Amino acid sequence: MTQADVIVAGGGSAGIAAALTAARAGAHTLLIERGNRPGGMGSLARVHTFCGLFHPDVSRPWAWLNPGIPEEIGRHMMERTGQTAPDLMGRVYVLRQSPELFASLAAELCARESSLNCHHGVAWTGLLRTETGWELDLEEAGKRRRVACRALIDTTGDATGARLMNPAWLQPRPARLYRPACIASLTSVGGRRDDSWHLSMAAMLAHAVRQGELPNAALGTAFRNATVNAEMFVTVDLDAGGTAWDPLDAQHHAAVLQEGRAIIQSLWQWLRANHPDFADCPPPSHAEELGVREGSCYSGDHLLGGDDLASCRRFPDEVALAGWPMEKREDARGPKFRYFDRPEPAGIPAGCLRRQDAPGLFFAGRCLSADHEALASVRVMGTCLATGQAAGRMASAWVAQSP
Ligand SMILES: Cc1cc2nc3c(=O)[nH]c(=O)nc-3n(C[C@H](O)[C@H](O)[C@H](O)COP(=O)(O)OP(=O)(O)OC[C@H]3O[C@@H](n4cnc5c(N)ncnc54)[C@H](O)[C@@H]3O)c2cc1C
Repeated sequence: MTQADVIVAGGGSAGIAAALTAARAGAHTLLIERGNRPGGMGSLARVHTFCGLFHPDVSRPWAWLNPGIPEEIGRHMMERTGQTAPDLMGRVYVLRQSPELFASLAAELCARESSLNCHHGVAWTGLLRTETGWELDLEEAGKRRRVACRALIDTTGDATGARLMNPAWLQPRPARLYRPACIASLTSVGGRRDDSWHLSMAAMLAHAVRQGELPNAALGTAFRNATVNAEMFVTVDLDAGGTAWDPLDAQHHAAVLQEGRAIIQSLWQWLRANHPDFADCPPPSHAEELGVREGSCYSGDHLLGGDDLASCRRFPDEVALAGWPMEKREDARGPKFRYFDRPEPAGIPAGCLRRQDAPGLFFAGRCLSADHEALASVRVMGTCLATGQAAGRMASAWVAQSP
């Protein structure tokens, strides 16, 4: 049986940061990812901006919020895309990112670490607690095998470990989860797409929906510029059956993805026919995966709450900082923001990443222990990189001190 010091399950933003951190601390680390490349939502679902990387005070020049891996990845992305500063969007700084570059950058950084092994196309399907740590069942191309570790970091986004081991470790789900979305990229887009372009596009789409030229669901569309000039991303938020939306139901998941792609396809046809900037635009390139904003979360030693964030609460044992406002998307008509009371970050304590009754298990990213409201902030990729890094530190320290 393969034996590692630390296993990181899930190779999204949090998992990449966790695995790099644990390996750099000297732990023999295994990263397990069921997709064919790293990046999670930031590559497979084509989420294309890093939020939460910067200090929330936009009256001051931009500054990195969490040192270490979040800054390292942000700097690499800036260099490779030719950006010299983040974009100021209203009350926040954001960094445009390329999903393809993110995946290749993550793969490159992981390949540099001699004590890190990454396995893609591998699904984690079973979990057992042992006297010395954890054993995981893995499935790869129809074959099953078992691996063991002393410390386990769950960065699957869906709290897979809790679902496999002990559902009592899960937090109760709210009646209405944040809505999923479908993303695609459009190339050969003309024009100068500044703030007024975006405003007029929103008005045009609303008019087309009223005229019956586009489906109602097109009202949930957002356009964002990519890191390359003639490329744009289009994101369509989906109602997904309202309270019936279950991100863990594979069939429902697939149906919502199909619906989203069909909406984007009709939107593309309408844009080509009605907007000169899209006249030469080839068919959209769809993300492979549906964008899921909220799945299952752990209930850890500390449950981070919306009020903790809004009051910029700090903790003696904090392991990362959150600076992104709570961006709540309970319907498909755009976000509702709850900003922090002051332009200052809030702390995320170690207790959000562990449970006393599960020694050697850590969790980070969008399945850490935060309530529905706080999740609307801490789920962004910049913060996931920071909590993943913290989990990597905690897991490698655990291994170092355990017999
Ligand atoms: C539509 C949409 C728009 C968003 N916009 C932004 C934005 O503009 N800026 C921003 O910063 N954030 C944004 N977010 C949020 C952000 O993308 C995610 O919350 C963040 O990427 C989560 O990172 P993570 O590492 O926790 O999880 P994920 O990125 O979801 O990674 C989890 C990984 O675990 C893998 N996995 C799951 N189960 C298993 C298993 N059993 N075995 C093996 N592997 C498994 C998955 O394949 C995946 O790669 C957006 C999200 C969505 C859906």
